[in-house]
Amino acid sequence: MLYGAVETGGTKIICGVIDETGELLDILRFPTDTPEYSVEKIAGFFSNHDICAIGIGSFGPVDINETSKTYGNILDTPKLQWRNYPFVERLKTKLNIPIIIDTDVNCACLGEVKFGAGQGLDNVIYITIGTGIGVGVVLNGKTLKGMLHPEGGHILLRRNSLDTYVGKCPYHKDCFEGLASGPAIAERVGRPAFELEEDDSAWDIEVDYIAQALSNYVLTYSPEKIILGGGVLEQLHLYPLIRNKVKEYLNGYIRTPQISNLDEYIVPAKLKGNQGLYGAYYLAKTIDKKG
Ligand code: ADP
Ligand code: ZN
Repeated sequence: MLYGAVETGGTKIICGVIDETGELLDILRFPTDTPEYSVEKIAGFFSNHDICAIGIGSFGPVDINETSKTYGNILDTPKLQWRNYPFVERLKTKLNIPIIIDTDVNCACLGEVKFGAGQGLDNVIYITIGTGIGVGVVLNGKTLKGMLHPEGGHILLRRNSLDTYVGKCPYHKDCFEGLASGPAIAERVGRPAFELEEDDSAWDIEVDYIAQALSNYVLTYSPEKIILGGGVLEQLHLYPLIRNKVKEYLNGYIRTPQISNLDEYIVPAKLKGNQGLYGAYYLAKTIDKKG
């Protein structure tokens, strides 16, 4: 049995064909374009393979409520051509197989839970810091949906006293994403985040915001593990700093074996950029099991 997995991002779309054992047999990457062109490319790729279902991890906001009439529609996105686009419906019309959709970050979290750093756990959160900040949540073994889906990248934080940068979020200015995304770091210091030396003081500000956010997620979601991904979090020197700062913020309030071993509690993603694709694959497999 073969499954299709799709990850749609703001800049690129990745499609994979994955077999029952988890082996990635074929992959296609292309830049995100108009929805019609993208659906054409995705359908063209999968029509060459005998797949039985597709899972999609999509940029948001997207309707992931399976009982909704507009299930699988992209919602109020700044990408105007995609706004209200019936993504799942259009793809289904072309391929005529079951399709399941969730957010890109919920899928990344699920991928890590089932195949990566969160294996064996039921309650995990995944945070990606790249062009934007996204938070995926798996609770009781399932991705969290709720009214819409979690938007934990936009939580409000206490401003670092050394930070005068106004913030980059078009909605909130200085929310977590507005203060700590890759482009926010770049705008604060005047050069790309990946060019900063490890001892640059901009990292202290970044660590402060990340640690505040993680402490808030610990207090609200009570995850058994926190998994980090995205370009900015490839800076491995940040991890010990983030762990120390989280400890400082929690200040002994949460006493669990996990919090006393932060080296294993706050960890990088294991699937090397394929976490979203593998989460989508896992979702495709759940459709198959439903019959
Ligand atoms: P995207 O979010 O677009 O899918 P990435 O996760 O690679 O892609 O995020 C891109 C952002 O992360 C850019 O702002 C870039 O400057 C920053 N970035 C990418 N790699 C690194 C790195 N190794 N260190 C610091 N910042 C990085
Ligand atoms: Zn925001």
